[in-house]
Order: sequence, then C-alpha cells, then structure tokens
Amino acid sequence: MTVARSEDETPTPDWHAQTAEAVLHTWSVQANQGLTAEVVAERLEAYGPNRLAAAPPRKAWIRLILQFHNPLIYVLLAAGGVTLLLRDFVDAGVIFSVVVINAIIGYVQEGRAERALDAVRALLTNRAVVLRDGTRQEVDADRLVPGDIVWLEPGGRVPADLRLLQTHSLRINEAVLTGESMPVEKATAPVPAAHAVADRRCMAYAGTVVAVGQGVGVVVATAGRSEMGRIGALMGTVPTLVTPLTRRLDQMARQMTILILLVGFVTFLYGYAVRGLPTLELFLAVVGLAVAAIPEGLPAVVTIVLAIGTRVMARNHAIIRRLPAVETLGSVTVICSDKTGTLTRNQMTVVQAILPEQTLGVTGSGYRPEGTFLLGDLPIDPLRNEGLGALAQCAVLCNDAQLRPGSAADDDWQVVGDPTEGALLTFAQKAGAIASVLTAEFPRVDTVPFDAAHRFMATLHHDQDGHAVVFLKGAPEAVLGRCTQDISGMTLDARDWQRLIHQAALSGERVLALARADMPTGTTQISLADMTPRFTLLGLVGLIDPPREEAIEAVDTCRLAGLQVKMITGDHAVTAAAIGRQLGLGGQTVLTGEQLDLMDDARLRSQVSETDIFARASPEHKLRLVAALQAQGELVAMTGDGVNDAPALKAADIGVAMGQKGTDAAREAADLVLTDDNFATIARAIKEGRAVFDNIQRSLLFMLPTNGGEAGVIMLSVFAGLALPVTPAQILWVNTVTAITLALALAFEPAERRIMLRPPRKPSAPLITRLFALRLIFVSVLMVTATFMVFEWTLARGGSLDAARTAAVNMLVCGELVYLFNVRHFVASAFRRDLFTENPVALLMAVLLIGIQSAFTYAPPLQTVFHTVGLDAVSWAMILGLSFLLFVLVEGEKALLRRRRVMGF
Ligand code: ATP
Repeated sequence: MTVARSEDETPTPDWHAQTAEAVLHTWSVQANQGLTAEVVAERLEAYGPNRLAAAPPRKAWIRLILQFHNPLIYVLLAAGGVTLLLRDFVDAGVIFSVVVINAIIGYVQEGRAERALDAVRALLTNRAVVLRDGTRQEVDADRLVPGDIVWLEPGGRVPADLRLLQTHSLRINEAVLTGESMPVEKATAPVPAAHAVADRRCMAYAGTVVAVGQGVGVVVATAGRSEMGRIGALMGTVPTLVTPLTRRLDQMARQMTILILLVGFVTFLYGYAVRGLPTLELFLAVVGLAVAAIPEGLPAVVTIVLAIGTRVMARNHAIIRRLPAVETLGSVTVICSDKTGTLTRNQMTVVQAILPEQTLGVTGSGYRPEGTFLLGDLPIDPLRNEGLGALAQCAVLCNDAQLRPGSAADDDWQVVGDPTEGALLTFAQKAGAIASVLTAEFPRVDTVPFDAAHRFMATLHHDQDGHAVVFLKGAPEAVLGRCTQDISGMTLDARDWQRLIHQAALSGERVLALARADMPTGTTQISLADMTPRFTLLGLVGLIDPPREEAIEAVDTCRLAGLQVKMITGDHAVTAAAIGRQLGLGGQTVLTGEQLDLMDDARLRSQVSETDIFARASPEHKLRLVAALQAQGELVAMTGDGVNDAPALKAADIGVAMGQKGTDAAREAADLVLTDDNFATIARAIKEGRAVFDNIQRSLLFMLPTNGGEAGVIMLSVFAGLALPVTPAQILWVNTVTAITLALALAFEPAERRIMLRPPRKPSAPLITRLFALRLIFVSVLMVTATFMVFEWTLARGGSLDAARTAAVNMLVCGELVYLFNVRHFVASAFRRDLFTENPVALLMAVLLIGIQSAFTYAPPLQTVFHTVGLDAVSWAMILGLSFLLFVLVEGEKALLRRRRVMGF
C-alpha cells in the first residue's frame, strides 16, 4: 500500500463516542437482522463499492524511456551517431531502427508481463461474513455498504470501518494505521469524542488485522471514507518484475557486455593496426560484433517466461503472490501440508456416536440430514434414546455453523462455517434435534471460542427457568480431563474411554468429546478459568473426512519427483497415522506436538527427515519444522490457513495459503495461494515451476550459441583478414529478426513429459553447467563454419560479394531456425512425432521468420538497404542441406549425452 494526498477533508461523525444502539439507529439496521437486499443495492449505488483507489500504474512514456537505459543501447546510439557524422545514412538508419525496435520489444514485453501479473493478483479478493435479510452470508468485501453487520474472525482483515457491537477477547493489530505493533484490545463501550484513532476501543478500522478473538460490528464507513481511505492509502502496488534470477542474469549480461566491448576494442585495434582495414567499415563491424554477441534480450525473455508460468499456474488454481516464487517452486524438496481440507476433502460426516453404554453407527453421507442410527446391524429409534438426545443437544448448541439445503433439487446440503460443526448439525438433525427450537429454548449467553491451542469450544446458555449450563466440545484430551463423570452417572473410567477413542482413531476418524456442566444460576460470563473438572461427559462422536483422490495421486507423483511430503495436522496421532496410510505417505512414525516440545533443535533436525506425520501440532511447531528442515538443506513449501500460521509461511521458502478457508493474514504472508485449497494443486505448481526453469535454461541455451555464432563470424573474418561474410547492417538484421521471433517461442514450451520423474534442481546449481558450456561452444563453431562455407562456396561458384553475403545471412538464420528445434530438448531426441505440434508458437514463429527472410532476400527496398540479391535454387539447396547437417550433428551430440545417462529436459 502506498500513501498519497488525502482527498476527503470533511470531518467524520464521532461514531466512537456514540452508543452502539445510536449508530444502528443512524444506519436504520437491526443487529439481529442486518440490511435487506434492497437497502444494500441502494446504498451500493449511493456510496459506491468498498474499494480504495488503485495505485496509478507507471506512466507509459517513463516505461518507454527506461527501455533506452541500457549500456548496449548507449553503444548502439554512439555508433549510430558516428555513422551519421560519417554520412553513411543507410547504416545509421539501420542502427537507429534496431535501437527503436529493441525498445519497443522491451516495452511491449514488460507491459504484457505486468498485465499478466496484475490479472493474476486481481483473482485474490477479500471476503467478508455479513448478516443480511436475517441470514449469515459471505460476500466480496468490496460489496459492503454502511449499515452492514459484519463478523470478525482471527486472521481476517477488517473490511471497512466498524462500530463494534460485540467482542469476545477481540484484539486487533492496527500497525498499518497507527504504527502501534502490539494488538489493541477492543470493547463495545463508547469513548470520549476527543480520543485519537489509536484509542477508540469500540471501533475496528478497515485494513487492520484481527489478531485474536471474535467480534461483530456495524459498517460506518467504506472505501475512501474509511480512516485508511482518508489518509490516502491506495490499494495494490505495481508488481515488481525483478527476481533473484533476473538479477543474476542481468549481472551476467552486464559482465558479458564489458567482456564483449573489450574483445571488440581489441578486434578493432588488430584490424586497424595489423590488417590496415578501412576505419569506417571496421568500426561498424565491431559495433555489429558487440550487438550480435551481447545477449541483450535475455532478461526480457526470462521475465516473459516467468509471467507466462504465473498465468499457467493461475489457470490451475495456484496464484503466485511474489514472482520469485515461480523459480523457487522448481527447486522445492519438501512439501509440508495441512491435513484437513488440503489432503482430505474437508467434508466431515459423523459415522458413529459413542455413548457410555453403547456405540451407535450413523448412516448417510454428506451434510444431508437423512440417515439412521444402528446398534450393531439394527436400526434404533433415536427419539427414544436419551443419551443420544443429550449428545445431539450439545452438538447443536455448542456450534457456530449453519446448514443450508442445496438450492436445486440435486444440490447437496451446504455448511456455512466450520465443516466439523456442520457435520455435528447434520448428526443432531438425524437424531431428531431441531436447531431452531433448541436455540430458542436455550439462548446462548457467552462463548469461549474454539482455538487450535486449547482445542475445544464452550458455550454458556440459560434455560427458560434461568438455569445456566455450559456445553463443551473438543478434542478428547482437552475434554476428558475436565469431566468427573459420564452421563450414566458413573465416575469417569478414563482408560475405558481412551480405548474407545483409540479404536475410532485407528480407522482414521476424528474424535470429538461432548460434555455439559451446570453453572450457578445467574452466571452470565464464562472464560477459560471456568473450564475446571466439573463436566459430565455426554459421549463421543467419530467423524470421517476421506482423503481427496487427487491428493493420493499427487503424493505419489511427488515421491517420483524426489519430493518428500509431510503431513502436519492438529488431529490425533492415531487418526493422522490412519489418514497418512490411506494417502500413501512414507514413514509411519508419528511425532506429536508434545514430543516436539521435548526435543531440542539438534534432536529435531535428526528426526525430521524420518518422520512424515506430525500430529496435534500447532503453528509454532510448523515454524520449528521449517527451521529444522532448512537446516538440513531442504527447500520447504509449507501450507497454512490461520493467523498464527503466518510466521511459518513467511519462514518457509514457499509459503502456501488456502484461498477458500485461509485467513487474510495467512494469504498475505504466503507466496502462493491455492484457490481450491487442494494439495494436488501444489504438486502441479511445482511441475509448472520446473517447466519455467527449463524454459529459462532453454532460452539461454538458444540465445548464447546463436549470439556466439553471429559474433564469431565477424571476429574470425577480421582476425583472418577475410572479407566480412556478413555486413554490420546485416548482422543487426539477423539479431533483431531472430530476437522478435525465435527467442520468444521457447517461453511457450509446455512442460516436458518426464519432468516429474527428475529430482528437484539444486538451488545452488549453476545456470550454465559444464555440459551447457560445451554445447554452447559446439553450436557456435558449427554456425561459424557453415556460414563461412556458404560464403566461400558462393564466391567460388562465381557469385558476387552481395550474393555470397545474402547466402551467408540466410545460412545463419536457417541455422538458428533448425537449432530452435534441437534446443527444445537438451538431451531428449528431437526426432519425435510432436516436433512441430507440441509448441505451436515455435512453428508459427518459424513460418513468420521464413516470410521475413524471403522479403530480406527478394523485396527490392530491402535489397537496396541491405545489399542483398535473390538466391538460386542451388544456393538454397546448399543452405538447407547444411542446416540439416547442423541439426543432425547437434542431435548426435545429444545421443552421446543420453548414452552417458545425463539427466535433463
Ligand atoms: P489440520 O491441521 O489437519 O488442517 P485442523 O486444522 O482441522 O487439522 P484443528 O482445527 O487444529 O485441526 O483441530 C484440532 C482438534 O481440535 C481436532 O482434532 C478436534 O479434536 C478439535 N476441533 C476441531 N474443530 C473443532 C471445533 N469446531 N470445536 C471443538 N473442537 C474442535
């Protein structure tokens, strides 16, 4: 976010000094109904969408000017100037055209890359939970209007300025607005009008983040009228196209430029002093040499490859938030994944209810509240089972979710809220409990919200006679210790219950324990301190959440690709192990959060490689696991969704957040956001990351030897004292036309078939390996030789110098063209059926280039500028024959590499 001049100077009403009722009255809304759809539509019209103005993009002309800010362009401009002074207008024209064309290519490519990234970012919108027409619904945060009743959850970004109506241990981090880094405790009582923003306890401001607790508030200001809008904060920033790799390549290109200029200078001196060549011709030849040799297009091609990769990933549900992540993804060695919803479907179903004296099976699937209860194989009448009734009552009352029938007849039932709680509602309804009746009979008075740290939730209710009762539900370890007896009145036999829990967990069930306790009449508040051993255990429920089919496949793919997959879950160790087995995860040893707490870092480091399943783990454990794995030299992708996961996501090499169930805090800390929350998407993104890297290497492998070939032709002729086989203007031509066509084609190369059968690329591996360098030299030598051969052969046939040069230029271009088809695979053979079909862009570019070259050879205006002449069929046969030979020779070298079992694309 950036800050600009404030636009709206009118004072805001003192919402913080008014009572909640007064604010609700002002906006004509009831706290338990929310606005109606019509009012929302009217206000949306009147106040506009709840969106801050976007940061202005960089000005087009500045971007265009910046294209000229490049050492190579300076050299070219200087050369153009000198040529002009020497009154060589044709060559000066060619040089200036090259400069302009270069700048335009850079400008267009950069613009496309920025737009691609912008479009991908726009896919990430913030959501808000509101009450409208009496029902809770999730909407895009930019559809909020004043008067909307909004819920706040931990990790969520406050979507608009709110006057708070209810708070539960609500603390908000307001650093973006006030600079105060400690979260501020919120309340609902009005504060004096004179209080500054930082002290307005009863307000929650747009853009700040809920650190802990929950709250409900009424929207009082949106978009530009919010405090954030008033200080001139703007949404979004211009995406940066710089990544460690582009920086490295930039640096490499700079070093090469200096080297090439030196070589050029020496060539010039040699040609002038030793060979006594004419100054102007020599000068232009050296400029041509510099232009041909400097891989000026490389950083731009890399940016385009990264941007295209980002777009492909977005199409496959993986949104890149930081461009460098695209290149890091290809090197990931370990994926640490949450279980619920990422590896599993997050479709919870209660399959058994365990009561003190009997265990009942529950039939039915999904959230549709239709099913029967079975004792053994026999159905029972749930309405006659008191124990089951008590369990269902707790399941309904200690619950924040809502069940909705599907809108169409074939639609399944939906849950608004936590799927675990949704499953409990379905279960309770199957048992005959009617939610609306129960909640009216036992209104909720207070709540201790669920927290992954204490793993339970408790609610306080009053019945019609004023008795107070607390319902508790949570992980069995958290609940059993707080129970003194079970519902049958027996003292709790913890060993017996543990056995039942273990049995259920063995088949992969998530087990929840449900309990209740009477409180002294008149109790209106509960806190963690009240959760003492005073409860009566009502029973247990076992829920299943089957693994996603695609996740099972993806785990397998990852193993073949040399990636370790580790599951980190808040669930019970035995449940986790069972799900791990179903997913085909490697080691069956399970480490629990408690065990991790007892280990020092050194011990953890030695254990972390052998363990694939971590249970009852909290966000702090994730942070330690990332550190331990990184200390082992691993490159870690870590998933997360909660506000407390943010530090682990930041620490990981690739932080992965869930787009659907993730909090805003987690998404903002992440490098990658999965819009479908699916583990298989991570595996696909890694595949694409590898493909991106392959394409960058392909581009290097293509551009460096073709540049080398072009430069070599000039250098050799000067040093050997031969006539230049291509003129400087012609070299600029070759360089420019191949840069617009061929070099770009490789960015569109699809992932190679065996890409996920290779081990991950070492991040420290050099970009240009020894074998790469050998290929580079080999191809450069082939290009230079072929060009000289064609040139000398044409002269020997009695052709003119112009004809020989035209043939030489066409030889260079044809050589580059066939080499493009070699280079698409570093080791794999190019003799395959899909040579022309796999990457249609390559074919298209090839056709385009052939067209351009024909014009160069036969079109009279170009013939005048470049001194070219039409070639006869014999010349073409020679050029094509040599090109084919070049193709075959490179394929031969690849076959040698294959024999030596060199791995690569
Ligand atoms: P994962 O870490 O695999 O994604 P998770 O995030 O669902 O799993 P948590 O939400 O931390 O895990 O839940 C941990 C435990 O807390 C669960 O095993 C369950 O026993 C209990 N639990 C989960 N949801 C609730 C809830 N809404 N109310 C009470 N207890 C719950």
